[in-house]
Amino acid sequence: MKHQHKNPLVAEYHDIIKPDSDNKNYRGLVLVNKLKVLLTSDPTAEKAAASMSVAVGSMNDPPHVPGLAHLCEHMLFIETTKTNGGKGYSKFISENGGGCNAFTTRDQTNYYFDIAASAFNDALTRFSKFFTTPPEFPDNALQQELKIVTSEHENKLTNEAWRKMAVEAVTAKPGHPFGQFSTGNEETLWVEPNAQGINVLECLRNFHSQFYSASIMSLVVLSKEPLDYLEELVVNLFSGVKNLNIATPSWPNNPYGPVECQKWIDIVPLSEVRDLYVCFPMPDSRPWFKTFPHGYLTNLLGHKGPGSVFSLLSRNEWVNNTYLNSSVPGRGFGYLTIGLTLTVEGLKHVEEIVEIVFSYIGMLQSKGPQKYFWQELKDILKIQFDFIDCESGIDFVQRTSNLLHVYPMSEILTIGYILDNFDEGVIKKFLSSLTPEFCRIMVVAKKNDAIATQTEKWYGVKYQVQPINPSLINKWKEACTDSSKYAKQMTHPPKNLFIPTKFDLKYIPQPEMQTEPRRISQDQLIKAWFYQDCDLTVPKAFIRFELYSFLPMVDPFTYNCNHILSMMFKESIAEELYSAILAGLNYTIKGTMYGMEITVDGYDERLTVLTETILQRLLDFDPNSNMFKAKLESYENGLINSSNLQPYTQIPYYFSLLTREKRFTDEELLTSLKELTADAIPEYHKLFMKRLNLECLIYGNLSENEAIHCCVKWKAKFQNFGTKPLIPSQSIRLREVQLPAGTSWVYKKMLGNENQRSCCAVLFQVGSRRLEDNVLLELFDQVIYEPCFNQLRNQEQLGYIVRSSVRKSNGTQGLLIIVQGLLKPQLVHARIESFFNNLKGCLQAMQEDILTRHKSAVALRKTDLPKKLLTRANRLWNHEIYTREYNFTRNKDEIMFLQTLDANHLISFYNKYFNPASEDRKCISIYLESPTSQGTNPTIRNNSLGTLILHQEITDVTDWKSNMTLSPLFPILKSKNDTKTLR
Ligand SMILES: [Zn+2]
Repeated sequence: MKHQHKNPLVAEYHDIIKPDSDNKNYRGLVLVNKLKVLLTSDPTAEKAAASMSVAVGSMNDPPHVPGLAHLCEHMLFIETTKTNGGKGYSKFISENGGGCNAFTTRDQTNYYFDIAASAFNDALTRFSKFFTTPPEFPDNALQQELKIVTSEHENKLTNEAWRKMAVEAVTAKPGHPFGQFSTGNEETLWVEPNAQGINVLECLRNFHSQFYSASIMSLVVLSKEPLDYLEELVVNLFSGVKNLNIATPSWPNNPYGPVECQKWIDIVPLSEVRDLYVCFPMPDSRPWFKTFPHGYLTNLLGHKGPGSVFSLLSRNEWVNNTYLNSSVPGRGFGYLTIGLTLTVEGLKHVEEIVEIVFSYIGMLQSKGPQKYFWQELKDILKIQFDFIDCESGIDFVQRTSNLLHVYPMSEILTIGYILDNFDEGVIKKFLSSLTPEFCRIMVVAKKNDAIATQTEKWYGVKYQVQPINPSLINKWKEACTDSSKYAKQMTHPPKNLFIPTKFDLKYIPQPEMQTEPRRISQDQLIKAWFYQDCDLTVPKAFIRFELYSFLPMVDPFTYNCNHILSMMFKESIAEELYSAILAGLNYTIKGTMYGMEITVDGYDERLTVLTETILQRLLDFDPNSNMFKAKLESYENGLINSSNLQPYTQIPYYFSLLTREKRFTDEELLTSLKELTADAIPEYHKLFMKRLNLECLIYGNLSENEAIHCCVKWKAKFQNFGTKPLIPSQSIRLREVQLPAGTSWVYKKMLGNENQRSCCAVLFQVGSRRLEDNVLLELFDQVIYEPCFNQLRNQEQLGYIVRSSVRKSNGTQGLLIIVQGLLKPQLVHARIESFFNNLKGCLQAMQEDILTRHKSAVALRKTDLPKKLLTRANRLWNHEIYTREYNFTRNKDEIMFLQTLDANHLISFYNKYFNPASEDRKCISIYLESPTSQGTNPTIRNNSLGTLILHQEITDVTDWKSNMTLSPLFPILKSKNDTKTLR
């Protein structure tokens, strides 16, 4: 729809379709340079955000310089960071409580940020320079970014998903850009091109001037300002983006043609996984977004209800899980994948499992598209649209900017939600492409090591490709017919009775409105909290139970029983309750060190009924079923694989081992698992249910009366069953080791040969979670976050992963620095110490307006509550209920205290807890060292080792822990009088 307007525009859209419940205002624009723009005005937004998607990605890389699109993204990013008179883009964003990043996929490059709403104008101006200023691509920046891109790739080497994708690429049609190495590294982006006489800088410039065209870019902005203001701003800042008049790249030629199909691919993983993938090349499904044929198929093939593939396979104990994926890796083509997690037994029956999959597909084909099922999907999606759970601003802009390349502007918010008419023909067409002739089978399992003969170049993945035997293809074709031996067991799902019909909000009159959770039941057995939260206007709620038991922490045996029981129970109700999940009601069940956590969330209409059903099934649960073996296997694999994870992701485990009062090691748990037999689980179940304390949070669109009524009912259920409350001395939470002042401890662990990267993690203990220290620590973390990343990662290149964060655990808190890279951890540690040593000067030199900005950024985090009900409820649970701190006015109190802080407070805080010269400092570090770690760092020119500190090594954890005192769990929280001790 075109309007006359004072701004020069090609088109303006005032008719963006949005949910009735959405109070934001939207406007679409096409600027004179063909840049597509979606403006979003949300007067209530605390944070503004923007994202620019350029429809160019790694599939546009020149074949002789793989990774160029990705390198270009890095170079542009660094360019903008370094300009603006030294006041970099990232620094500005970070000081104003925001974050920024960029990523490159096969068909897009996306740049995005969010920031405190008041600083949006400035930030967007800096952001626009990415696209309006011709980049210089200086050589020194190139060398730095080449190193970062290389370590980014090296970080993915052990990632099973990337390894699988690498094999998918290498088995594609020869010469198809899908087959190219997408991330790039120094070899493909420097060494090789140079050897061939190719100038990389020139390639970069050519690439940029060939593809960075406004005609294939789309921008989404979200801010507090009115639409007219935003339009003016965007037109001023972005009309200068060059238009090269190129069309959005697209690849209608599927990377898997007939020659690439009928292939059996065996892949050797690094970790203990057993996965089967049945893949089909498909057309790009996006032109049919209103008919949703791909969604129709994935929802049926991934169904877990009666008559489904999963139901039959899990009854045979052949699979543990299934997931469906219909993806469009690049504009123009797609594929559909049926993923199955196999058990040991299942791995022996892969051909038969595929036969069962084809039996189901055959049933779908012969019965034809079912209108009732499609209509159910349509209804469910429409409800999701009407009561959309808002995503955060940054997620919204990032997701939507990419959509603008393909979908009509006016319908941009409805993509994936609003369907129109049931089109049998289109669904039939998609359904008919699922045939044995057009499938590829991938099996990922360690046993493939014995047969794999090929090695993929970039990830070193061992694999093997073979044509599928024609007799097997014929057998699967046979399976698609009615005469298949499985045909009788395959049906479409039953009608879904969980689809909600009532959406009224349970309004509370103003004076009675709650501002914090209220205790609605406190007796021996059940303690319940209720909070309606009138901020959220969605007909959804959240209920979580902690079934607290002391049993899991008794010994590794009971700990294992507890986890396997939780997994078996979850599996036992999966088939019955799968329809609920489809209808927007979710539940999770997980074993924890304190027992079991049951969470139910979604549309409130049937939520309490669902909760009741789950609790009843738990009471009636008969674990004598044959699920034991499959769950034991999957639990065991989880424990085995945890030591194969990237070193930095293992850090939380080691800290809990070292600093938590009690923690079983993975080895102890694995050893104990050998004694575990199926009959232990029913016994444990009985014992577990005998004595429990129930802690519960009821949150969202339920009335207080409803909540109270439910609690009474739930309690009666447990009482009738005979559950008794725990005695007080059984209901304690674990505490944390308190390091003596002035000590620094190191725990060292040598990693296996497969690890090339080492990790150094340093935790500065601040102590009990007192309000004052909480606030100072958060402010300190905010202040050092960007300098830490900039110094340790960008300047010193100590590793690709560099993180600083506040670590809260068991009533204590501290600042955690993590660096993962190729260097020896002790060298990295010295550099971290150096960084902290130099901080003193920075803190002293910090100007008042910068500190004010940082303070606002911390306050913003406390006022800008998550938009999603689930995230909000989780936060409340994790921060206050799980910890038993119950400090529901925390944010308010902390913001008040924050206002009183000045630079001196921060410097004293630094001097006490972080200054290497402090006598009060308490440090504990973990070195996970790779056998190949390097002893020197070529990037630190002055060759200084950094600050030398004497560390004491922890050799025997148990011994060490026995000599430590423990921190109190519940410090006196509101000790406002002792703020003077800070000075
Ligand atoms: Zn990158």
